[in-house]
Amino acid sequence: MSSLDSPLSPTRPKSPWGRFDPYDSAEDQDKEYVGFATLPNQVHRKSVKKGFAFTLMVAGESGLGKSTLVNSLFLTDLYKDRKMLNAEERISQTVEITKHTVAIEEKGVKLKLTIVDTPGFGDAVNNTESWRAVVDYIDQQFEQYFRDESGLNRKNIQDNRVHCCLYFISPFGHGLRPMDVEFMKMLHEKVNIVPVLAKADSLTPLEVRKIKMKIREEIERFDINIYQFPECDSDDEEFKLQHQELKDSVPFTVIGSNVQVESQGRRFRGRQYPWGVVEVENPVHSDFLKLRNMLVRTHMQDLKDVTRETHYENYRAQCIQNMTRMVVKERKRRSEDKLTSSDDHIRLYSALRRMQEVLERIQEQMHHGH
Ligand code: GDP
Repeated sequence: MSSLDSPLSPTRPKSPWGRFDPYDSAEDQDKEYVGFATLPNQVHRKSVKKGFAFTLMVAGESGLGKSTLVNSLFLTDLYKDRKMLNAEERISQTVEITKHTVAIEEKGVKLKLTIVDTPGFGDAVNNTESWRAVVDYIDQQFEQYFRDESGLNRKNIQDNRVHCCLYFISPFGHGLRPMDVEFMKMLHEKVNIVPVLAKADSLTPLEVRKIKMKIREEIERFDINIYQFPECDSDDEEFKLQHQELKDSVPFTVIGSNVQVESQGRRFRGRQYPWGVVEVENPVHSDFLKLRNMLVRTHMQDLKDVTRETHYENYRAQCIQNMTRMVVKERKRRSEDKLTSSDDHIRLYSALRRMQEVLERIQEQMHHGH
């Protein structure tokens, strides 16, 4: 096993923006960091003061290491209060969505991280439509946002839209299972899907190469639109190389651990086996660091942009279309119907007025490019 120069600090890819790297100092060499202090490089300074908010969803069969990975990614114990279910409870358990929020701060940069977990998925004997609760959840957040932004109190909108969904694929199958395909297809128009290959420590390097290739091929064959890293038009060769490497890594292999182990005088997050130790942050052992760098250091803002500009915009366009259709229908009915009582008339008329007001406000906003 090759050892790393500095296993406890994040690797330092050259920032694609070529800006100041807040982790690049000698005193940080032996500290554990998540790495989001580079966020100001990704966005306008204005948002720095307010802090950043990011919502990450994890999905996939239960037991694949979702919560362990989240803890490893963000160096927190988000799940300390989790109740373990016994087998019987698990079988009958439906998909239940839980939300954990933590505020973390690194180098003066605040990040409000929300993790949306979909426990139980895949446990029940009948897994048809296991995606439904997740799809509903994502839609509900869009709906809430849509209501708020068309309402009066637009300054203090709480944005709960899901920016990214890490989809866990089992290392024990031979590629994607029908359930994986179905799940991702139901979600891919609504959220940025990043597929990960769970428990990478159970695969040999050759197996990893084969299974990754198979999964990429299946993603293409089944027309699954996973999150696409934005193309770069810069001439920076190193950045281009990094971009290609990132694309070739999909699905990212991951290893999670909630404990630190000690080996050869070093302490690190890892998993101790009778025959050796696997290190979460060792790039030879998995793509964990690549994934974390992508999520927090280089692509967090892009994930938010795509959520807003593509996924949410789709939802909003659909909503406006439905509302317009309803207004037109009501108008037609009003002119055709002989309304019996004046009460009916008033009720209908005010409902129509309200709908029109909302529509006008939305159209006005769209005009102003919000
Ligand atoms: P979840 O149900 O998907 O949230 O899975 P958990 O995070 O609760 O993990 C289930 C079990 O898998 C636990 O015993 C973990 O210690 C173990 N586990 C988690 N991550 C890994 C990993 O990367 N490799 C291996 N071999 N086991 C893991």
